[in-house]
Amino acid sequence: MKILVLNCGSSSIKYQVFALPEGTVIAKGLVQKLGEPGASIRQSSGRGDVTVTEVMPDHTAGLKKALELLTTGDGAPLASVRDLGAIGHRVVHGGERFTETVLVDDEVLAEIERHNELAPLHNPPNLVGIRIAREVLPGVPNVAVFDTAFHQTMPKTAYLYAIPQSLYREAQIRRYGFHGTSHRYVAARTAELLGKPASETNLITCHLGNGTSICAIEGGRSVDTSMGLTPLEGLVMGTRAGDFDPAIIFHLERVRKMDTKALDDLFNKKSGLLGVSGKSNDVRELLALREKGDADAALAIELFTYRLKKYIGAYLAVLDGRCDAVVFTAGIGENSPVIREESVRGLERLGVALDRDKNASVIGREANVSASGSATQILVVPTNEEKLIAMDTYALTRA
Ligand code: ADP
Repeated sequence: MKILVLNCGSSSIKYQVFALPEGTVIAKGLVQKLGEPGASIRQSSGRGDVTVTEVMPDHTAGLKKALELLTTGDGAPLASVRDLGAIGHRVVHGGERFTETVLVDDEVLAEIERHNELAPLHNPPNLVGIRIAREVLPGVPNVAVFDTAFHQTMPKTAYLYAIPQSLYREAQIRRYGFHGTSHRYVAARTAELLGKPASETNLITCHLGNGTSICAIEGGRSVDTSMGLTPLEGLVMGTRAGDFDPAIIFHLERVRKMDTKALDDLFNKKSGLLGVSGKSNDVRELLALREKGDADAALAIELFTYRLKKYIGAYLAVLDGRCDAVVFTAGIGENSPVIREESVRGLERLGVALDRDKNASVIGREANVSASGSATQILVVPTNEEKLIAMDTYALTRA
């Protein structure tokens, strides 16, 4: 079965076509700047790369163009759109209602819409993706895979904030966690690599991309994660602050007369690695600057690895010290040996010991980089959220 995986952003569509059950990628593409001058689509497949720049006023136009590129010309990845057996959508926020992947019907659409308030930037474009897929490809089943679903197994002690419970009951204010598809994929793959059933595997998974989050996994289930009501909480990120004293907000309102929009921007878009270094949100660039003696870049990286190490220590405690592996994934986790090394430095006495040479040689591939005798293994496992979305979609629709 051929499955189209869609990830719709406010002005973009990321897509991949998979062949299931093999799990191979037939084509992938990115539509950018929808509704803006200079809208473009780039697609790669077995016949090479194609880039087209043309007016695409909205997501419908973008999806139609993607389908056209997928089905026309010599060696087109698909003979016809009728080859598509199902469509899998990434949806950021499923609240408490969605604890797993679901087939989309009118009721599900309405429920997702009800969660828009919890993720005002992300859910609306995800919904647009589902709506236009139903319109452009009538009769093809749609499946929604939620970033929050994996974390719905967290206990109350991990997901409640210590604020009046009425805010939870009446306004759904609690920790939800994100990157669930990535943590779930990496956890399942790590269990395979360790040769243990997922249900008997305890892990700490570190998703380190532009957004970063860490997850404590007990018996294959998420029991704590660092992101909260929104993706702002937790680790230091490219442009997000992660944990900070919320009273800084009241202080800035009083002293600097900042409004909600300015504060939102400050902590989500101008903080993190970018804010501390004043130079870049990109770890590669910061590492290069640090090499040249840039103290601000060095400090930003130090804050990043210190926060991560602190959370790894906390999650070892959450797991009562019974942790099979600490796992690194996403852009930074997969590709930066030095960030991995600095994040676990000093944890040897807690049973987490890295083999420096092994670690240094691992970039962008699966590997065990722990020192021999380390009670807790350290692994690098590249994530693949799209593949998991395709697999879930296949599992739900092949019947
Ligand atoms: P996204 O969250 O946008 O999917 P990615 O998972 O692609 O992000 O991760 C992006 C981050 O990965 C950037 O900070 C980038 O600097 C970092 N990164 C990618 N390759 C390397 C590398 N070789 N060394 C260090 N960091 C890297």
